[in-house]
Order: sequence, then C-alpha cells, then structure tokens
Amino acid sequence: MIHITMGACRPCPPGDPLNRSTYGFAPEMTPQEIYEANRGYYAIGSEAEKRERYAIFSGIGVDGERVVVLAVDIDKIVPVQVPGKASRKAIEGRILEAGHPVYDTYVGKPIEGARNPVVYLESSFDLGRCKCGCGEVSRSSFVPGHDQRALHERIAQIGTVADFIDWFDRTLNSGGETIGQHVDLRHGQPQASRNDQWDHDKYDWPNGLGLFLYDDGRIKVELKDGTVAVTDVSNYASGNSRRSAHVIAQFARA
Ligand SMILES: [Zn+2]
Repeated sequence: MIHITMGACRPCPPGDPLNRSTYGFAPEMTPQEIYEANRGYYAIGSEAEKRERYAIFSGIGVDGERVVVLAVDIDKIVPVQVPGKASRKAIEGRILEAGHPVYDTYVGKPIEGARNPVVYLESSFDLGRCKCGCGEVSRSSFVPGHDQRALHERIAQIGTVADFIDWFDRTLNSGGETIGQHVDLRHGQPQASRNDQWDHDKYDWPNGLGLFLYDDGRIKVELKDGTVAVTDVSNYASGNSRRSAHVIAQFARA
C-alpha cells in the first residue's frame, strides 16, 4: 500500500505538469480535491507500480494530528513528464468511500507521517490471488516464478517456442480472434479473420477445416490434408421456411 504524506496546501509553480493550482492538504478540501491535488507527481519505482493496489493519503487535521484523509483503489500509475525530473508518476484510481474495507480500516485513523512523500506500507489488502490460477496469495500479480510457468504452460499447448511464435504472429497478423471462448467445443475454437483482398470472412478450425463466407453470399469449405464430406446443402427460397434444393456431395482429396 502506498502512503502519501501530504504537507499543508500550497500553490503550485506556474506550468504544473498536472495542471494543478495547489498541492498539499487543507481540512476543508473534499476527497476529490485532495485526490486531484495530490495524486502526483512522485518517484514511484516500477516494481511498486506493478505491486501496489491501494494508496492512502494523510494530512494534518484541524486538531493538529496527522490522520488518513483519503483512500484510493489504484487503477494504474501513469508517467508524468516533468522538466528536469526523470520518471515521475501519478496515481489514477477510484476514490473509496465508507463501507470499503480499506476506507474503513484507514480513513480517519491517526498515522505517522513520513519524511519521504511516498512510502510503502505492508498491508494484507495488497494481497491478491496469483494470476496463474494456483490459488496462492501474492503481493504482486504472480507468486515469483509463476508468471514464467504460466507462460510456458501456454506455449506447450501450442508446441515448441518456435511453434508458439508462428502461431502467435499468424493469429495477430490475420487479425484472428478466438470466438466462442467459453463454449466447450469438441472440435476446438475457430479463429475468425477478414480478407479484404478476396472479400471474405474466414473461420479456421484447429483440424484444418476452413469456412469462407464471401461478401456476395458464396460459401467455400476447405479441409487441409483431408476429404470434405458435405452431407447436406439446403437452399431456401425467400419467404419459404422449407428447403427447395438439396445437395449431398463428397469431394475426394485431389
Ligand atoms: Zn501461481
């Protein structure tokens, strides 16, 4: 968890990179005003950028005591161009309200200010499930090493690293997109792609079956290294729900 120690509200020098007029904290400020004036810019390390899920902001209240006055669910930490200062960043996120466990745990509670405006607090709220699906909890997206494991498990589903790269580039370059991702299909998920040169959409199944849907209404079926057995082609006259033509054909491998 990031803890931003805010000083008293002061005017920003002209040309502020975040277009602010003031920064720091005054007790009369609303949560939105505190957020806008203090979400950046700070030196936040790239490790912390990936790791931290929440930010709390503390300021000196009317009674002269430092308390947490704002809690934010971090959406992302974005770079800010600051002349003469390298890699400054700002927090973007959602301002939390009463009822959220992070708000209820921290906001309104006393906290010790830090010399550095940005410090990192250990907090159980920063723990999330490892994204590999192992079920372990982690402070970052993955338990160390599990990102590599998750990646290699996916490569192995395609084949070798070379197979994976071929498949990835082909899928990306064809604009191919997996459809019906959540349906349990026995013949696998077709990839859909568009070919403007030949005026068709195309669906490719993992077994080599391809279905071309031409813009003029024609349909073509291909099966790489196999025989296409078309069992039924039905034509329907317009306005008629009963088929008027019926073709059964088998095309042998050339
Ligand atoms: Zn894991």
